[in-house]
Amino acid sequence: MSRPQQITVLGATGSIGLSTLDVIARHPDRYQVYALSGFTRLRELLALCVRHTPQFAVVPEASAARGLQDDLRAAGLSTRVLVGEEGLCQVASDPEVDAVMAAIVGAAGLRPTLAAVETGKKILLANKEALVMSGALFMQAVRKSGSVLLPIDSEHNAIFQCMPQDFARGLGAVGVRRILLTASGGPFRQTPMAELAHVTPDQACAHPNWSMGRKISVDSASMMNKGLELIEACWLFDAKPSQVEGVIHPQSVIHSLVDYIDGSVLAQLGNPDMRTPIANALAWPERIDSGVPPLDLFAIARLDFQAPDEERFPCLRLARQAAEAGNSAPAMLNAANEVAVAAFLDGRVRYPQIASIIEEVLNLEPVVAVDDLEAVFTADAKARELAGQWLSRHGR
Ligand code: NDP
Ligand code: MG
Repeated sequence: MSRPQQITVLGATGSIGLSTLDVIARHPDRYQVYALSGFTRLRELLALCVRHTPQFAVVPEASAARGLQDDLRAAGLSTRVLVGEEGLCQVASDPEVDAVMAAIVGAAGLRPTLAAVETGKKILLANKEALVMSGALFMQAVRKSGSVLLPIDSEHNAIFQCMPQDFARGLGAVGVRRILLTASGGPFRQTPMAELAHVTPDQACAHPNWSMGRKISVDSASMMNKGLELIEACWLFDAKPSQVEGVIHPQSVIHSLVDYIDGSVLAQLGNPDMRTPIANALAWPERIDSGVPPLDLFAIARLDFQAPDEERFPCLRLARQAAEAGNSAPAMLNAANEVAVAAFLDGRVRYPQIASIIEEVLNLEPVVAVDDLEAVFTADAKARELAGQWLSRHGR
């Protein structure tokens, strides 16, 4: 029998990281954990190392690394601790690694994910912000290295499953008319608009169907998540923004659909549990048990659909504009959103101000071409600076 695949999990202490390790642990004959990374939850990282015995663990700075290294030694483990972005890039690109789960949240995941792409790894992409920021460069790097890019985002994984295998020939060539991205509508789908100024971070993070990290939970509430996913879908499936439509589907059972020119609409359904797309991508093109219970259609009984409302969800409009503008616009959108969401989670701004911050940043800064990674990081830094100025003027 062939040796187990060596897997690096970037962002192991997060929601996707833990779900990934749950699936991996069900298949010790197929997968072995090569490296794990954490950022603030280092106690949890130690426990994960004890459980999964990786060769490497990565933490953000040297003193934390010394502490973890001592604890690992005391636990009788030979796991070596690496530090910072350099350590992340090393475990993402090491020749021994077969696949990398990119599950760091936000722009911090871009360089390590690209390091994995450039060395031709199988990429399990949860970190949508990396692709949104650097779309054209990211996809060029995928083509150049021959890396296999598999979407973990439940919608994109669903679309991937509903596409013909040769979809890279172009949507028109394979008879696809549109991609329909489903969205739950989040916790504020029906909240009276006047109350939105008073919602709290905990309310925003209480997603009706999914249990996720706090940043993506706020993105789901504002529907910026669907906006980022629109941009993500355009890159993954070589679609124009006009070929991707959002559909509010509160039950989160249909994870997305592909509409073909002959009138066929293919959908992927399942319980809202990220272990399904994770297992799908890990084993692709085979199928493995994910631990997710079978879908009970009789218990679900009905599926509802409704058009998204851009007045209620202005982030959706801003993201579509950025998708159409291309170039530096998606990186600016993403960075302004990261600053705005962090400020909301810290209690510095109210929920409706997230969209105001992003809109002002996008209006202030002209869209420029991004021909290399430095240009992406320049756009990212400029948007963070402008959002920071907004916060010093209006933030609490
Ligand atoms: P979490 O907040 O739960 O986890 C984020 C992970 O990234 C943690 O391991 C965290 O470490 C680490 N991290 C945070 N900041 C940094 C940094 N600056 N440098 C290095 N590592 C860092 O998020 P999720 O797991 O929910 O989401 C991860 C990614 O997956 C996001 O891009 C999200 O959009 C995407 N995604 C998530 C889904 C979900 O269901 N959760 C669904 C679809 C996509 P620590 O915890 O130790 O601080
Ligand atoms: Mg999603």
